[in-house]
Amino acid sequence: TSFDKLGLSGVLLRNIRQLGFTEPSSVQKSCIPPILQGRDVIGIANTGSGKTAAFALPVVHVLSVDPHGVFALCLSPTRELAYQIAEQFAVFSVGMSLRCEVVIGGEDLLRQASSLSKRPHIVVATPGRLLEHFMHSSDTIECFQRLKFLILDEADRLLDSSFEAELRYLLTNLPQKRQTLMFSATITPSVIALKPLLGQRAFYYEE
Ligand code: AMP
Repeated sequence: TSFDKLGLSGVLLRNIRQLGFTEPSSVQKSCIPPILQGRDVIGIANTGSGKTAAFALPVVHVLSVDPHGVFALCLSPTRELAYQIAEQFAVFSVGMSLRCEVVIGGEDLLRQASSLSKRPHIVVATPGRLLEHFMHSSDTIECFQRLKFLILDEADRLLDSSFEAELRYLLTNLPQKRQTLMFSATITPSVIALKPLLGQRAFYYEE
């Protein structure tokens, strides 16, 4: 299977070529088609498997088709990973004028709040800082009312760390009608406990 068999748009295929990716990795081959079909996905895959592109490419594809109707939130356990994810969204969406905002601790809260109020298409956040925004202003909750994709990256680490309470709060305050994509390096009991978040037809991938 090559990238052009996966159902991705022409602009995206061009950007993928520019990056020198010749063939989709296993997690990409398996997960991109069900994500494009609107299914929830749980993927067990390690860093280095190409899992970031497995969720970022279909999200950018949907945004390239309908840039106003979609809003993606990706939660990451660490600031570094948040930047890496945002960087991949940026390279995949060259030429599409999509806005991606990183919302992490240690950076200016007011500047972030102002950026969020401008409704970026994609937000990559650590749970603690995003929760702070939710607590400080009802505007932030409002920002996420059109959420179409919720991505939990490295879900095992999101849950193992002290984020569990934050995560539960965020999950109950985000729109329920959305597509949820969950990636984890390992299947822990807390990851299994998140399974009810996924719809009945969820696609399950394990490397
Ligand atoms: P990840 O597993 O998401 O952390 O990705 C690991 C690295 O592989 C990243 O630097 C990606 O840019 C790169 N990558 C992802 N998919 C492909 C692919 N299909 N071909 C070549 N490199 C890729």
